[in-house]
Amino acid sequence: MGRLQKILIPFLGLVLAFWFYSARENFKPEMLKGKRVIVTGASTGIGEQMAYHLARMGSHILITARTEAKLQKVVERCLELGAASARYVSGTMEDMAFAEHVVKEAETSLGGLDMLILNHVGTSYFGYFNGDVGHVRKLLEINFLSYVAMTTSALPMLKESEGSIVVVSSMAGKVGFPFTVPYSATKFALDGFFSSLRQEFSIQSINVSITLCILGFIDTESALRAAADLLLVPPAPREECALEILRGGALRRRELYYRYGSTRLPLLLRDWAAELLDYLVRSRYRLERLRSG
Ligand code: NDP
Repeated sequence: MGRLQKILIPFLGLVLAFWFYSARENFKPEMLKGKRVIVTGASTGIGEQMAYHLARMGSHILITARTEAKLQKVVERCLELGAASARYVSGTMEDMAFAEHVVKEAETSLGGLDMLILNHVGTSYFGYFNGDVGHVRKLLEINFLSYVAMTTSALPMLKESEGSIVVVSSMAGKVGFPFTVPYSATKFALDGFFSSLRQEFSIQSINVSITLCILGFIDTESALRAAADLLLVPPAPREECALEILRGGALRRRELYYRYGSTRLPLLLRDWAAELLDYLVRSRYRLERLRSG
């Protein structure tokens, strides 16, 4: 009996896992054709690449960031790539009224919203925490509060369309990372807010999905400038990362991990071997370069 149990339980586990994953829907680019999508932080980096993917899929795109000249170029490229429509609004997410204004623009120009992609991130420093409380407050406004403000304003439209919220976070929002203390704090805040909100949506039968994206090191200009010399891990390509985020959002996944091997797998240690995970995180850095820099 004991031996039968030893074989039967893992076998049942495998069958269930196979059923769970094979029953899941596959991503098709048509899923985003004609959808009305806001992408924040889309003047460069991962956001810019998401805009191009959405354009190829034939979405209606509204992008935002501060630098108008860059946004103009991204919009032009989106139209060349086949976007159903593309427009931008420029401004800073330090200002909650601007965050709400972007959502209002989707209402007036697109007549509604299917997907809200929250991706922008304010500039911070890479190094030991310097005690600047004002900087933490400012970063919380840009990286967290503006996400809350946009979500709140967009919710009536998203309920109407049974749409999706995609929140771009980081490994630094799931486990403590050195040298990015203010940034890490803002990303942890996103997990708390959006995971709790997802619970309430479930209780209230609100059919708006929330996908939290946990990213590792990606080869955007700003990330390479900040950390390429200090990190021992190679960066993953931003184009592929952008597509994975859209795929996760379209499939209404709860969380998305990119790249899976360097994010999801280490996080499995978090509850059972937290000190080992902390050690593994620390060992990713060339500490001597930080000290000499
Ligand atoms: P980038 O630095 O390349 O782009 C950031 C975007 O945010 C730009 O479009 C920038 O445009 C905009 N932005 C910055 N400040 C403000 C502001 N005050 N108001 C409005 N918009 C602003 O970032 P990435 O593409 O590298 O990162 C995208 C997302 O992925 C972020 O949420 C980041 O935390 C996450 N991530 C990235 C990783 C990486 O290694 N690259 C790793 C883990 C997570 P502008 O300056 O014109 O305003």
